[in-house]
Amino acid sequence: MSLSFNPDALDLPQGHFIGGSYRPGPEAMVLHRPSDGAAYAGLPVAGADLVDEAVCTAKAALKSSGWGTCQPRERTRALHRWADLIEAEAGHLAQLEAVASTRLISQLVAGDIAVTAEQIRFFAEMADKEGGELVPTRGDQLGMIVTEPFGVVGAITPWNFPISMAGWKLGPALAAGNAVVLKPSEMTPFATLRMAELSVQAGIPAGLVNVVLGDGRTTGNALTGHTGIGKVSFTGSTVAGSAIMENIARSGVKPMTLELGGKSPQLVFADADLSLAADCIARTILFNAGQVCVAGSRVLVEASVAEALAAALVARLKAGHLGPTWDAATEYSPIISARQLDRIDSLVSAAVTEGAEVLTGAARLDGPGYFYAPTLLVGVTQTSTAVTEEIFGPVLTLQTFGTEEEALALADHPTYGLAAGLFTRDLSRAMRVMKQLQAGTVWINRYGRSRDHILPTGGYKSSGIGKDLGRDAYHANRRSKSVLIDL
Ligand code: NAD
Repeated sequence: MSLSFNPDALDLPQGHFIGGSYRPGPEAMVLHRPSDGAAYAGLPVAGADLVDEAVCTAKAALKSSGWGTCQPRERTRALHRWADLIEAEAGHLAQLEAVASTRLISQLVAGDIAVTAEQIRFFAEMADKEGGELVPTRGDQLGMIVTEPFGVVGAITPWNFPISMAGWKLGPALAAGNAVVLKPSEMTPFATLRMAELSVQAGIPAGLVNVVLGDGRTTGNALTGHTGIGKVSFTGSTVAGSAIMENIARSGVKPMTLELGGKSPQLVFADADLSLAADCIARTILFNAGQVCVAGSRVLVEASVAEALAAALVARLKAGHLGPTWDAATEYSPIISARQLDRIDSLVSAAVTEGAEVLTGAARLDGPGYFYAPTLLVGVTQTSTAVTEEIFGPVLTLQTFGTEEEALALADHPTYGLAAGLFTRDLSRAMRVMKQLQAGTVWINRYGRSRDHILPTGGYKSSGIGKDLGRDAYHANRRSKSVLIDL
């Protein structure tokens, strides 16, 4: 059976999802499909009143359901049922995602959705296995550390992997005993809404997963500034992350996890398997047309093999079959919006004006939607716009180095430290360089996440604070209380 579908025949969830039911509102924003630019849906925007209602609903649901204080295995069971329903409805969720976003229908069911269901199961299994501890104190005392949920977590997600990001936020927060008010990106809300609906069908008490729709300035701001939120969990750009920190500082200090932008380097040493390196670099910048936080967009290569690697990359940087996200034959994603397409094009043009040489790409691609050609720029320096800015598109820069020290100096971005890749056959060098790379994740002789949910993800420097995934994400959704008893 083909996965292709007709986007005009798809019923989209309407309204915010609060307390287990939809709350339609007046449409205040128009959404355009990245695949063909068509205006296809309207979106209500939650103001402070509705955000307040969602937070109060979440609080009341926590209290009445006992979700945070129940036998933890009950949460485990409910989350497993939710993961099962997500998998069972993967085809429909994939359509809701593909219509709005840049994710391809051919990649969603076996990719994003299967991984999200598994991640939810990973966190479900932590609920009854992670606890506090007894600590060494004087013999006539008993000291312990107990852990508790925060209460209501305010979560905000970006548009580039909407289902995955919703899973990253909801899975650990719910497993750890919290309720959530989640604001998805205003561009890609539909699959998240349906996931929330499925949570209720799975037996997660209504009101524990609430979804408020709207933009960052209105809805996001009201959510992060709400004093009833115990913690903020955000994934998005560093600019928005900074604005959220300011808002939190102004409106009442609360803990936060911030997963922010990146400009990740991939270091290729002369002894590396060049074919493997070229495959990994090309594959990861073509994936989702480079709209990936950990996109390894800065290639740093030892000078003696630079020409060979550049040629191998040019040969591999082919867009594949262009088409809409809802066509199973499409291989290359559109750019999310006309605005983002303009931004990519203007950053590449600025790089060329600054002296960059184009080895391939640097052009919009024809199509009814928003497409940009895979691009490789050389002749750039550390201060070139294309090297400093997170372009968030299918654009690679290539710089050369002579020594390990030069490679590390080039790798060290002034702002970002999300991820890095490293290709070498020399194990000692790999370990030495890995230790010095200023990045929250380092991949060696590979690039990109695996299905090992145990590995946390998060940034150094302005790429973020705290971690998603792994045990860290579960613990980041609980706080500790120290208890000392005089016996
Ligand atoms: P964005 O920052 O523009 O928006 C992300 C979300 O934040 C959206 O829901 C938006 O409405 C909301 N928002 C924006 N301003 C806000 C504010 N002041 N207060 C509250 N909410 C606000 O990012 P985007 O364009 O949707 O996504 C792309 C960015 O996300 C890139 O920078 C990418 O690197 C980053 N990202 C990071 C990770 C990670 O794990 N580190 C993962 C995916 C994406």
